[in-house]
Amino acid sequence: MDLAKYLRDVPDFPKPGILFKDITPLLASPVAMKTAIDRLAKLPFGKVDKIAAIESRGFLFGVPLAMQLGIGFVPVRKPGKLPWKTNRVEYKLEYGSDSVEIHQDAVHKGERVLIVDDLLATGGTMGAACQLVEMCGGTVAGCAFVVELCFLPGRKRLGTHQVEALVAVK
Ligand code: AMP
Repeated sequence: MDLAKYLRDVPDFPKPGILFKDITPLLASPVAMKTAIDRLAKLPFGKVDKIAAIESRGFLFGVPLAMQLGIGFVPVRKPGKLPWKTNRVEYKLEYGSDSVEIHQDAVHKGERVLIVDDLLATGGTMGAACQLVEMCGGTVAGCAFVVELCFLPGRKRLGTHQVEALVAVK
């Protein structure tokens, strides 16, 4: 099954010049979603103890993946959303900065965590999520995406972390 057929290109969203990859056709198809989760589950990351995913579209793939693998799920969220003690990492955007948080006790020392998001663009968000896992004492098992925008330097920004994506957009 070609999962690229379940992505809708929306030009100039959310602002002029951005070609937005809309995943809602994928979400609307139970067969395509099952295929996506099955493929994510088979990616070669070695032993994985937990899945972490990035608010909010990452959750749509991270939770079913964690359930399929029979392991726990950890949310990485925008600031001020998580109720317990948090670690925070700030990262640079094209204009300004943003930050993400994780519960301090969400990942234990030595655990191997696979981090999931819907799409890799510049890699800023995923890079910050990797730092959060490491701040908790965990090891990043890898970074898994449904879509990678290969014309952006996201993979490079993630350095030595293993990066895998189901759909490569050239
Ligand atoms: P980045 O930190 O630049 O890698 O951006 C990744 C986050 O922004 C992901 O969580 C995506 O959901 C979202 N995103 C960035 N660019 C796009 C795009 N062209 N289409 C859809 N989502 C995008």
